[in-house]
Amino acid sequence: MTFRGVSKEAFIGTVTLGVIFLAGYLFGKNRKSRKMKLCKSHGTDADNSPLMQYILRNSMREHPALATLRQKTLEHDKNVMMVSSEQSQFMANLAKLIKAKKALEIGVFTGYNTLSIALALPQDGVVVACDIEETYVNVGKPYWKEAGVEKKIDLRIQPALTTLDELLDAGEAETFDFAFIDADKESYDGYYEKALRLIRKGGVIAIDNVFWGGAVINPSPEDLATVSIDKLNKKLHRDTRINLSMLTVGDGLTLAFKL
Ligand code: CA
Repeated sequence: MTFRGVSKEAFIGTVTLGVIFLAGYLFGKNRKSRKMKLCKSHGTDADNSPLMQYILRNSMREHPALATLRQKTLEHDKNVMMVSSEQSQFMANLAKLIKAKKALEIGVFTGYNTLSIALALPQDGVVVACDIEETYVNVGKPYWKEAGVEKKIDLRIQPALTTLDELLDAGEAETFDFAFIDADKESYDGYYEKALRLIRKGGVIAIDNVFWGGAVINPSPEDLATVSIDKLNKKLHRDTRINLSMLTVGDGLTLAFKL
């Protein structure tokens, strides 16, 4: 099916990007009037605004298992670590757009986004999900099963850098289509470099929390997480191996498109 010669996938992708950019623009305007506020919780400071409610009401197509897992995760005392549902849906659409079959997730938490990506992959797709804390992942596992995608999720409980090295050693360089980086911020550069080797040309790496609540504007030298994110942001800007977009969605999401 085409829309005036544009493929359905490209059309959906363009519309999705348009909505994300518009939402980011409107929230950006809204935030200018406030003091810089820490929003490490993926923009949850905006979640109760009438506009955010409108956006969610008119764009979310959450699978029932995702909706239940989101509710379960919200009850968790570390719920700020969850990726927002609209960001997750955007990344799932992006994965579909590039016809992703193999995905990497670095930082799983309760597995909401893992489930979202797994649902976006074809039956023979796989998401290698990396985390060190299985207690949190156990919250999400029943919903992976409920949605019938648990076979697509290859969970590796160990430091993500070890898993990425194992994948490289196993000859899986340039075989992944999509990666999402959202684990400890101090290791972001290491995750990015290894993910870039594992991703094919034309693949996408999404990097979360690139604003770190606005702290990246003026990082304190002793704040290692902020310094690490700021350093990577500046490096990506100069990185000729990729094209990039830094989106004002949630707490900042950089998309790196491998050339
Ligand atoms: Ca995050």
